[in-house]
Amino acid sequence: MRLHRTEKFFIAFLMLLVGAAVCAYWANSVVSGAFDGQSVPEPVASGIAALQLQLGLLISALMVGIVVFYPMIRRQAHEHGQWREKAESMEMKSQTFQRAALTDPMTGLQNRRYFDDALAQYMEEFSRIERPLGIMILDIDKFKSINDTHGHDIGDEVIKGLADTIRDYTRHHDITARMGGEEFAIVAPNVALPELEKMANRLRLAVSSLVFNLGNNVRLKITISVGIAVWDGKETGGTLYKRADENLYAAKRGGRNRVCA
Ligand code: GH3
Ligand code: MG
Ligand code: MG
Repeated sequence: MRLHRTEKFFIAFLMLLVGAAVCAYWANSVVSGAFDGQSVPEPVASGIAALQLQLGLLISALMVGIVVFYPMIRRQAHEHGQWREKAESMEMKSQTFQRAALTDPMTGLQNRRYFDDALAQYMEEFSRIERPLGIMILDIDKFKSINDTHGHDIGDEVIKGLADTIRDYTRHHDITARMGGEEFAIVAPNVALPELEKMANRLRLAVSSLVFNLGNNVRLKITISVGIAVWDGKETGGTLYKRADENLYAAKRGGRNRVCA
């Protein structure tokens, strides 16, 4: 039987009462035994009567405690335990909902909402420590033709494959998000422009070496274009994103499969 904390305290209290009753009983036996068969002087008789009254009261308190209060305490502790379990399970559920609301279900990366919040938070932190903060936006080249040629399901597999590569080529404190469709964005904290450009090119090359086996000896390869920008320390998240996006379109215009800063 599992006991709750209040129950344990109450049982300890009952044990104290038992101890006190045993002491009163023992004192009563000692004093009564000392005058066995003799006439007991008046003050001692009063003492014995007081001890017997005390013993009676202690036994009554014990009985009331066991029969009346203990079941009440047990029921309350049990109900409290049930509520706590319910509250904990609700808290876990709400955490799961919160995570789901910020995660892209297809790739398991973060979603746009998470990205925007995380970028704002990083900007706030980094304005204090004056460290560079880079972002990159990447987009699959000619993805529509992949869908048109191989079907939407293969398109989805390509998106998932790209997401896995993004995960492999980023650090654990980078924010990686699917912004929608076949467009992804990364916040790379503590990275200046030359390093950010290297990081983007490493990722671009890794994507261009991916091979999707579609069966029947059909192998599909993809490329991405990437726009990068480093925060100037003053602009808003929206302006920073826009600059990276303009660089992405410069990469597309420049012939795709490239990084533009
Ligand atoms: P560009 O090189 O200029 O980026 O050309 P693109 O074809 O990749 O760009 P466009 O914006 O014309 O096409 C993007 C396509 O992505 C169109 C849309 O149907 C498809 N798409 C968007 N979301 C999904 C998705 O979740 N799954 C699949 N399979 N396709 C998607
Ligand atoms: Mg595209
Ligand atoms: Mg796109």
